[in-house]
Amino acid sequence: MVKELLPCLYRIHVPLPESPLKYLNSYVIKASPRSLIIDTGMNREECLQTMKSALSELDIDLNKTDIFITHIHADHIGLAGHLATENSKVYFNRAETFEINSPGIWWQRMSQFAVLYGFPPDELSKLFQSHPATRYRIKNIPNLTIMKEGDLVEAGDYSFRCIETPGHSPGHLCLYDARKRLLVSGDHILKDITSNITTRYDDVNNALGEYLHSLDKIYPLDIALALPGHRNYLTDVRKRINELKEHHRERASEQLRILSKGEQDAYQVTTQMTWDMKYEKWDEIQSMQKYFAFAEGLAHLQYLTLLGKAREKKLSDGRIVYSLS
Ligand SMILES: [Zn+2]
Repeated sequence: MVKELLPCLYRIHVPLPESPLKYLNSYVIKASPRSLIIDTGMNREECLQTMKSALSELDIDLNKTDIFITHIHADHIGLAGHLATENSKVYFNRAETFEINSPGIWWQRMSQFAVLYGFPPDELSKLFQSHPATRYRIKNIPNLTIMKEGDLVEAGDYSFRCIETPGHSPGHLCLYDARKRLLVSGDHILKDITSNITTRYDDVNNALGEYLHSLDKIYPLDIALALPGHRNYLTDVRKRINELKEHHRERASEQLRILSKGEQDAYQVTTQMTWDMKYEKWDEIQSMQKYFAFAEGLAHLQYLTLLGKAREKKLSDGRIVYSLS
């Protein structure tokens, strides 16, 4: 469960029951005067027990520990409220503070958008009950220290610079220690699975474009080891970035083929795309996985629209449909 990857830097496998992600990688740097925990696991009993026993095995004093959160998703930030003490700094980003502080309004806004783009309303209510963002979200929100591009996070011998990498989520931050050639990649770059790209439901509407730009930002960095939020660590980050870009290019061509059949909404397009999930019929998929696929499908359609390859049209009832340009 606990493994030392580099001197004083440990990885904890925090279980994510029922999730295809299997577990979250929480990284702990044990240092004096203050230790650092990077990402925490969901706010649920299985995660809390694992974190508690791993931190006690490492003899981490939470009163002398700060917490860095790569992004808002419940598997990364969920336990921050439990682990933070009165004198902990909890590092986070600006873009996702609204969602943390006003989850109800955020959820309502997201639901309204999703329906306009074709997501079925009955799936939405199932989603609301099962989505980790509602079930296992952070409670007792601690004071957040907002970090931006270039800000430093230090622990012992490690000196990280924050890199803003929006795309997987709007405020995602990576950490980079140039001297150690070490990247903490969060969910921006994963090794054997691709990160979900979720459309932003605001006026930006270019989550995929942002994601690709964030990959370009990491590409030139000298990196010997990258520590992702899930699954295994990476040693060849540039190769992985090229693969990820190719993956999204393939997705785009697939969508263009689907759109060649005629005008459709984002949900209809999503159900015909190839997804890395085990199912024979679309209906078999859990609402939550349907939603993640839909949100990524929509991010792709918005990107193709910005590139001028697809066209977005608003129908008289407010629904949005797509066609080839
Ligand atoms: Zn995530």
